[in-house]
Amino acid sequence: MNYATLGRTGLRVSKLGFGGSPLGNEFGDADPAEAERAVHCAIDLGINYFDVAPYYGRALAETRLGDALKGRRDRVILATKCGRYDVASFDFSEARIRASIEQSLRRLRTDYVDVFLAHDIEFVDARQIVEEAIPVMRSLQAQGKARSIGITGLQLNGLRKVAAVAPVDVVLSYCRYNLLVSDMDELLTPLVKEQGAGLINASPLHMGILSSSGPPPWHPASPEVKEMGRRIVESCEQRGVQASDVALQFCLQHPYISTTLAGMSTVEQVRRNVAAGDGTADPALLEEIRSMSASVQNCSWPSGRPENQDHAS
Ligand code: NAD
Repeated sequence: MNYATLGRTGLRVSKLGFGGSPLGNEFGDADPAEAERAVHCAIDLGINYFDVAPYYGRALAETRLGDALKGRRDRVILATKCGRYDVASFDFSEARIRASIEQSLRRLRTDYVDVFLAHDIEFVDARQIVEEAIPVMRSLQAQGKARSIGITGLQLNGLRKVAAVAPVDVVLSYCRYNLLVSDMDELLTPLVKEQGAGLINASPLHMGILSSSGPPPWHPASPEVKEMGRRIVESCEQRGVQASDVALQFCLQHPYISTTLAGMSTVEQVRRNVAAGDGTADPALLEEIRSMSASVQNCSWPSGRPENQDHAS
């Protein structure tokens, strides 16, 4: 396992991180005992970064991760979030964020998190994130409940604009840097780098599209993107390689991303993904995938308020 420093936080994080949303059954029902074994296996194989949120399974993922980390808390770098609680339930008020971290800490069986993130900020007025959420998160950091703080979302301009006026320690972007979409490097990476903040890339498999598991029923990508994912998976299989391995290897080659979060809930996935991280993708295959998918490259989807859409800026 390779490690990198997460911006100025000083945290040495594994380049492959454990995405915790499948622990909350977001990608279909996870077997709780197997999910716990997956967490233990990940730690044994050198993964030290674990990402979760109250939203995943409406607290179930945090509860499961907290149970799995009993006796192992000191071996991991733990990240959770605040502000998003259901598909359409957002609350970035000071009172809710203060209550939220206490609930998360209880479920995670710890008295601090290493990284505390405002979750999917494009769903609310950016001014509330700048003027209320980030200041209260900084005060929780000062109290020692969070070692570092940051923001997450799909809309890159929204993340960039907030970070520009209220610099944070960590920025997490998802579905904007993988084999199908890579505009994160135009719209977000330069500012994050300039500020010396930590950059986390989530959803290297484009939330399942670039894997044999396929996308979950709720996946918001267009039918064309899903169909392209299916073709990529098939064409990799014909060459005797797994698309998920290639997709992970592509992300892990990025020079500034500290950790790439893959959603996992089984020992097999953990073993497979860790092994994939030890290899490198064939450049000719990457080029072939890129040209084959040219017609759908950088096609994302709307998320959040109209004024926060990338196309609106
Ligand atoms: P992903 O691209 O990691 O895909 C996850 C899907 O791929 C799941 O169905 C999983 O079972 C499957 N999978 C994983 N490894 C596989 C393998 N080797 N073979 C076949 N299938 C495999 O998408 P994700 O889970 O959405 O993203 C990773 C993590 O990043 C999340 O779990 C979450 O922790 C974090 N995340 C955060 C945000 C945010 O903060 N706004 C958004 C998205 C993701």
